[in-house]
Amino acid sequence: MKVIVNECSHYDVEAIKTKVIAALNKLSFDFSKLYNAKVALKPNLLTSASPESAVITHPVFFKAIVQIVKQHGGIPVLVESPAVHSLQRVMKKTGYDAIVTEEDVLVADTSDYIVIHNDAAHHFKRFEVPKILTECDILINIPKFKTHALTHITCAVKNLFGTIHGMKKSQWHIKAKTKDEFAHMLLDLYQAYCTDNAVPKTIVHIVDAITMMEGDGPGPSGRPAFLGVIGVSYNAIAVDYALSQLAGFSIDNIPTIIMGFKRGLCSIPQNIDIIKDSEISGRISITPKEAGSTKILGIPIINRILKNLLVAKPLPDPEKCTLCYQCKQICPVKAISTSKDGKVPWYDYSVCIRCYCCMEICPESAISLTKPLLQRILK
Ligand code: SF4
Ligand code: SF4
Repeated sequence: MKVIVNECSHYDVEAIKTKVIAALNKLSFDFSKLYNAKVALKPNLLTSASPESAVITHPVFFKAIVQIVKQHGGIPVLVESPAVHSLQRVMKKTGYDAIVTEEDVLVADTSDYIVIHNDAAHHFKRFEVPKILTECDILINIPKFKTHALTHITCAVKNLFGTIHGMKKSQWHIKAKTKDEFAHMLLDLYQAYCTDNAVPKTIVHIVDAITMMEGDGPGPSGRPAFLGVIGVSYNAIAVDYALSQLAGFSIDNIPTIIMGFKRGLCSIPQNIDIIKDSEISGRISITPKEAGSTKILGIPIINRILKNLLVAKPLPDPEKCTLCYQCKQICPVKAISTSKDGKVPWYDYSVCIRCYCCMEICPESAISLTKPLLQRILK
């Protein structure tokens, strides 16, 4: 199982194309498969955010992949479903709309869905995914490498979750409430993508990790950090592992990677062949923060005392909040309601399941994590 990690220091279309093509060649990717093929492209475009904030896959990165597909005779199709706003609005605010127009990219309607199955699932066997995927021959997953308060990172595995339509995503936080249930759900979905014949058999993951996100990700509360690489693999867990290791993250804290290994969805680390550019060694110096609610996997978030002791709370900042209520809109368990003080929305932490969707969506970076009580006491 191979992962290619190539140095790429800036968002320049030609530079990215060169590095991506070199990586795909090292994976023996058959470029002739692109000819006349509909190629689904799945960036991370969850919300409207500037490319510099590292919240979304950089539009220049996306453009480079579009051009590679077109230069080999393929038909690029953008497949993405933002959480709250329409894709058109998010594309306009992020600069994707210009690329889609210039490059003549088809934009999929993700509200029309099919059900894919995973008979070997740990928990969840059925997922609704965009019907357009049944017409596509290849799926190119184009995630941004970021920290994530719930899953520690969001990269190739979690980016596929974005194919689930709009607010239906937040319903999965109700079905999979704990951190490890949620991680298993992401892996169940990934496994469904890998095994169900209704969706493209060829899936390749091309990760934008030129500027990654550290700290309180995955929304604008996280900080952009220069990593200067792209990661490419046929296996989502392997590329997530390689990039997390490169960034210095503690792999034990990343449930999708640990459980992915245990479930046999990826080779054990010793058998992952990480092929790095010679230019990469020794120049990566970021200080990743342990983003996330708890290091203890599998604790059911069932009572308030346990939650407050062990799990970080999302806390809106009255200095930044504009009372736009996007957080209220996305909250899957209706833990957020109209402001009582006229400054910030009111949070009911006894209902909150700590999914951190509100943090991810907040356009003002107004929501930060408070340290869990136990961590504050033991400090
Ligand atoms: S916390 Fe953020 S998303 Fe929620 S109302 Fe304030 S600005 Fe809007
Ligand atoms: S308040 Fe925020 S973290 Fe809590 S359940 Fe709602 S969206 Fe998730």
